[in-house]
Amino acid sequence: MTRTPLIAGNWKMYLNRTEAVELARSVAAASTGLTDREVMIAPSYLSLAAVKEAVADSPVRVAAQNVAWEEQGAFTGEVAPPMLQDVGVDMVILGHSERRHVFGEDNAMVNRRMQGALQFGLSPILCVGETLEEREQENTFSVVEEQLRQGLQDISADQMAQVVVAYEPVWAIGTGKTATKEQAQEVHAFIRSTLVTLYEKTLADSVRILYGGSVKPENIDSLMAQPDVDGALVGGAALQAESFARIINFT
Ligand code: PEP
Repeated sequence: MTRTPLIAGNWKMYLNRTEAVELARSVAAASTGLTDREVMIAPSYLSLAAVKEAVADSPVRVAAQNVAWEEQGAFTGEVAPPMLQDVGVDMVILGHSERRHVFGEDNAMVNRRMQGALQFGLSPILCVGETLEEREQENTFSVVEEQLRQGLQDISADQMAQVVVAYEPVWAIGTGKTATKEQAQEVHAFIRSTLVTLYEKTLADSVRILYGGSVKPENIDSLMAQPDVDGALVGGAALQAESFARIINFT
């Protein structure tokens, strides 16, 4: 089973529009000629249109960092799926640990967002991952399994073909602490085996599972060498053109 690696940059709440366009142009330049992998960047909502335009002549994909589940309505502060499509966005990060832990999004809400995104043709990256406490209490697998089962509830096999999963241990996000390649592989393999129980093997084998959590130029190659690591979701190191370029060009 060949899975096209995906390197995704999550720009979080950083960069104004001018800075975002500048970095997007650098990412497009660094991605030139790469046909064996996909590159994606997720700027703030306000920069989506400008960034989409800046990478128009490149294969770089542009994603939003969240999306609502309804087509429109009284949902102050939210952005609807057709609004993203209107600016050419076709991917979205969902269930990021900052959404879960800072803004209180639970599995049920993440699932509603998943359903909304897929209904409107957006490909979601579903983020899952345990806190340090959960890992220390040996609950990593049960937490991740629950996030998968609930996050993917009522998502059909056809829809699942559009979904990417990201394993992001909360203790590794923005902390400089990366999971070892063995820790990452162990949970990625567990995620894939859980997907086999939810769907079937061929489909589970085709789903890309990204690792996220302090990915840097120094650790990308060894992470990508793991059999079930199909890419990376990168925060801090995606904000600098040089480090992200090195990550995109993993070997
Ligand atoms: C993230 O934002 O998803 C992330 C993994 O951040 P960082 O790479 O900074 O740990």
